[in-house]
Amino acid sequence: MKPSILDYTQQELETMIPPKFRAKQIYHWLYQQHVDDFSQMENLPKTLRQELAERFSLSPLEIVQKQRSVDGSVKYLFRLHDGHTVEAVLLKMKDAVYDEKGELVHHAKYTVCVSSQVGCKVGCAFCLTAKGGFERNLTPGEIVGQVLEIKKDNDIASNRRVNIVYMGMGEPLDNLDNVAKAVKIFANENGLSISPKRQTISTSGISSKIEKLGKMELGVQLAISLHAVDDALREQLIPMNKAYNIASIIEAVRNFPVNTRKRVMFEYLVIKDVNDDLASAKKLVKLLNGIKSKVNLIYFNPYPGTDFQRPEPERMRAFQEYLLSKGLLCTIRESKGIDISAACGQLREQSLEETNRSNEVKA
Ligand code: SAH
Ligand code: SF4
Repeated sequence: MKPSILDYTQQELETMIPPKFRAKQIYHWLYQQHVDDFSQMENLPKTLRQELAERFSLSPLEIVQKQRSVDGSVKYLFRLHDGHTVEAVLLKMKDAVYDEKGELVHHAKYTVCVSSQVGCKVGCAFCLTAKGGFERNLTPGEIVGQVLEIKKDNDIASNRRVNIVYMGMGEPLDNLDNVAKAVKIFANENGLSISPKRQTISTSGISSKIEKLGKMELGVQLAISLHAVDDALREQLIPMNKAYNIASIIEAVRNFPVNTRKRVMFEYLVIKDVNDDLASAKKLVKLLNGIKSKVNLIYFNPYPGTDFQRPEPERMRAFQEYLLSKGLLCTIRESKGIDISAACGQLREQSLEETNRSNEVKA
């Protein structure tokens, strides 16, 4: 199996494919010209193009399914070379705006939610990705490839930057080396040029790895999937909380280097009658005291087979209003693409079920 050329940083390609300036040219063709084939890299000698095609594959994944939501987000299912599948979602954060003459005022704003693993080891009680267990880590190229394929598929001009959130399938900090490499490949200015400031790594709270990520000084944004304010409940929702409790996470966040203008995002998945009470909101305010934070309340997105339920909007608003009244920044995330089950893991699960069903028919 040939490695994908998307797995490598420019520096690595410089030593692998001398002379040095070739790597920059290759980055340009891959990430700015969106070529589909090495033969299209016109300013490279023909022999080199052939050699590259012999040594590397171009894309490590292919789109196998796509679902468009009424709100404009598009969910993708990708197949990897070994047959495993992962999801990514293109979220349209803002529409393009035109003036009365039809001239563009500003471009649409996009965020891509990428997966970092096939499955996940963390095993959160509310998460569909957890149900399938863990298969393997994604390579850097498999992470980068999700964004590249989505930009190509939507004709998003190469110079239009998208934001990246590592909030798809998997726990990014459990695959830290490959995720860190993907961050650098995304950031390369000869390539996709997505500054680390525009990349947000979301973690279920592996405190030791948050510290490690901080020491790497990548300049990425941090999001913590908190979801509960006391350890007993958090352990039920996220079993790993036994090893890394809330206090250890808060400590790691306090030590994390944050760009002075940015805040650490705390995600709080709101589940009906589980964590949607005002006593929890009160504790949350205490917990975040002194941290430059922003809270994102997320509606639990139900799926067949779960006992958890979506909270009432009034409870959600009351929770938010309490936090706002105490001076915390707090937004409610209307699950984008709710009609296409945009909480990650859900499209893949659907597709696996369909495969199983068709296998049953055949058997
Ligand atoms: N493993 C990392 C990143 C991927 S999960 C983490 O847990 O942070 C990304 C987000 O999806 C998490 O905040 C998680 O709480 C949320 N999520 C998982 N299942 C969900 C569901 N059924 N409805 C809504 N959000 C969900
Ligand atoms: Fe893994 Fe995140 Fe799902 Fe928990 S919520 S099982 S950490 S992907």
